[in-house]
Amino acid sequence: MIAAADFNITKIERSKLNDINLENIPFGKYMTDYMLEADYEDGEWKNVEIKPYQPLLMAPSLAAIHYGQAIFEGVKAYKNDAGEPYIFRPLDNFKRFNASAERMQMPTVPEEIFMEGMKQLVKLDANWIPEKVDHSLYIRPFMFSTDETIGVKPSDKYKFMIILSPTGPYYATPMRIYVEEQYVRAVPGGIGFAKAAGNYGGAMYATAQAKLKGYDQVLWTDAYEHKYVQECGTMNVIFIIGNTAITPDLESGTILKGVTRDSVITILKEMGLTVEERALNIDEVIEAHKAGTLKEVFGTGTAATISLIKELRYKDYVMEFDTATLQVAPKVKETLNNIRYGKVADTHGWMVKL
Ligand code: PMP
Repeated sequence: MIAAADFNITKIERSKLNDINLENIPFGKYMTDYMLEADYEDGEWKNVEIKPYQPLLMAPSLAAIHYGQAIFEGVKAYKNDAGEPYIFRPLDNFKRFNASAERMQMPTVPEEIFMEGMKQLVKLDANWIPEKVDHSLYIRPFMFSTDETIGVKPSDKYKFMIILSPTGPYYATPMRIYVEEQYVRAVPGGIGFAKAAGNYGGAMYATAQAKLKGYDQVLWTDAYEHKYVQECGTMNVIFIIGNTAITPDLESGTILKGVTRDSVITILKEMGLTVEERALNIDEVIEAHKAGTLKEVFGTGTAATISLIKELRYKDYVMEFDTATLQVAPKVKETLNNIRYGKVADTHGWMVKL
């Protein structure tokens, strides 16, 4: 078994940080000085290395680029006012990563490599965590198959890596959302609950079509009736109807088990709202809108935390929201930010110290 003490660390000669202006950086554009790389071969994980960020050399026959055994995660590290670095709920991402691995017939990654590797890597690149509210260091663990053969079969070899990218404020303006009825993201029995690369490629065409119609994202609906709401783009979705927060349950396996979703459910309950995780039909949403009880709709995810929705369109029926007067979503965002930047006590044990 590999222990953190066995990780091989190669130091950089000079940090790239001095050449980069961390003001207003576009999401995902810059990578830090270091990366983690580990190989799965002969049934075991080996060669855990933290080394200078660099390109990979790969064969054109690399299995992952043909058959898509590729999964990833998205995690964030923050600095509090005292400049101390923390990672937000990485154990939840670790568990989801291995659930994705199993579904994609890939080996699981040991906790020691995923968690300790992430902590050591972020520690080495701690200077890259911006010390400002609305800034963070995005952590991208991923795994892909590395057999060099174009036979369709589960690969024998895999690579697990973690790369890091500083992110600035996510100036997300409230979104216009198109309720998708033709294309689907996931089906029961499929891979919707996994953070598999193909789920994202498969979603791009429908999203581009919605953009052509003037919308920012789609609200996915179920594969059979195109009625039951699923997720909003790459975010989970929450509806506030009256004093109840309703979000689709995870039973069908078509929805990603969002770490932000879980955190927001906890916060909503603490705010005194009733939270229902259940099937939600778009007809029920429309009825609530007509009755005046549909108060808010928002997306939750690691990248933007909470994304406000100003318009939701189903067929020709348009629902509009005045995002300046929302009562719930901005409060949830503020509460989550206060926890992430250490401004209030972390009573849930969400922040992991390096
Ligand atoms: N759904 C999908 C499809 C996603 O890609 C993401 C982003 N990881 C989410 C929901 C939100 O999950 P999380 O809160 O863990 O970022």
